[in-house]
Amino acid sequence: MKFTSTQNIEKRNDCDITVVPFFKSQKKAKVAASISSLEEEWEFAVQSQDFKGKKEQTMLMYSKSPKEKRILLLGLGDEKSCSIESLRRSYSAFVKRCLHKDWKSANVIFPIIKDVKDIDIASAIIDTLYLSNYEFDYKSTSTKSKALQSICLCGIGKEALSYAQYASHVFSGVNLTKDLVNGNADEITPQAFCKLANELAKSNPSIKTTILDKKKLEKEKLGLILAVNRSSKRDPALIIMEYTGNPSSKKRGAILGKGVTYDTGGLTLKPTPGMLDMKCDMGGAGLVFGVMQAIAKLKLKINLIAAVPTTENDIGSNSYKLGDVYTSYHGNTVEVTNTDAEGRLILADAVAYVEKNYNPTFMMDFATLTGAVEVAIGDERAGIFTTDLTLEKRLMESGNKTGELLWPFPMDEEYAEPLKSDIADTKNSGGRKGGAIQGAHFIKKFVKKTPHVHVDIAGVAYLDKPRRYHVTRATGFGVRLMVEMLQKYYV
Ligand SMILES: [Zn+2]
Repeated sequence: MKFTSTQNIEKRNDCDITVVPFFKSQKKAKVAASISSLEEEWEFAVQSQDFKGKKEQTMLMYSKSPKEKRILLLGLGDEKSCSIESLRRSYSAFVKRCLHKDWKSANVIFPIIKDVKDIDIASAIIDTLYLSNYEFDYKSTSTKSKALQSICLCGIGKEALSYAQYASHVFSGVNLTKDLVNGNADEITPQAFCKLANELAKSNPSIKTTILDKKKLEKEKLGLILAVNRSSKRDPALIIMEYTGNPSSKKRGAILGKGVTYDTGGLTLKPTPGMLDMKCDMGGAGLVFGVMQAIAKLKLKINLIAAVPTTENDIGSNSYKLGDVYTSYHGNTVEVTNTDAEGRLILADAVAYVEKNYNPTFMMDFATLTGAVEVAIGDERAGIFTTDLTLEKRLMESGNKTGELLWPFPMDEEYAEPLKSDIADTKNSGGRKGGAIQGAHFIKKFVKKTPHVHVDIAGVAYLDKPRRYHVTRATGFGVRLMVEMLQKYYV
């Protein structure tokens, strides 16, 4: 999307649609530009109360003005309760009116909101334009490329344009994540991830990619990744991307993402409804790629390791077996009591490998790990599991800012008791009670000393159906909050 801005409404662009925001039950739009020359266009709609300005309400009308073909009245709801989040939802209603049509250009008139800074209003609106102006489908009559392409921000100065430039980099990461999560499992394979990691390194000199292929995984004895992969015809990999944006510092954190590109559950086979959306089981890996793309484009002055253990969890005569014991890279042995609890197995090898070979200052793993997290808190928030309260606070604060919400779970040692095994160092699953916390405890067993956070994004990475400003099922959750956090605390 290309952005321009003007304080003077008379200098707005010729466009397909001009958007005018209204608070609920107000007869005049409270906006940051003088629009008296336009007001008679919507006078009748507003006076007649056909348009009331309710949150996310839209009314489309054809315009007599030579500048715009159409005018969209957009409801922002009650003025007093207008928040950044309600702005996001309302402006997404405008973008959704434009999707799949041939309306490519828009003038967006800014509202005035008491006690909210102009730049905060601007960033909420620009974020929403990027979030909702996204298309993905496999329809034979695909409507791709009909999304909005040029936006004139009316009533705000150039500071909004520099935010739009920043957002374009962040959302190139978010959209990459969405494309990966929405994509077919037969296209977004471990090999496709390896190719993407190599391409990222090729186009960004600040990224170095190292791939541990099956042979190297065998040589280095990453026994848990290899166990999960056994019945897949596609080889596994552990992909490491090193981003160096601050060469003068040796400090670097690490983010890891679960990259199970399709999860049948293995011998603990999932029933059909549970398998239907399992192409999204690489949501953590998708997030990690999105973050790497965004920080490289933003040229953030940080150093960061990204690691993606990736494989399919397939079923076949060579499947890894329930009741058998497998040895991890860390050295811990694992009695497999559920082959569908495979994400924690590949992450266990990955955190141990990253800690030993890269010595990061922190490790954060993101994974569509458990259905249990969704049972506990639904799909509005991701679960966060850590004993490091500083990292927890930083992540939660960043999520509150970007609207990607987290919720902390207890990590009492008692929750790890069901993982005790009488023949191995640990089981990989201890049953249903506190299942999401057990998953976090399992991964933690493979971390020796590094501050560690596990984020379970099973509910939020891929929705049952598009919702609010998410216009496809993949949400790109986590990319914006990670960029926000890295920028705020580590630059
Ligand atoms: Zn599974």
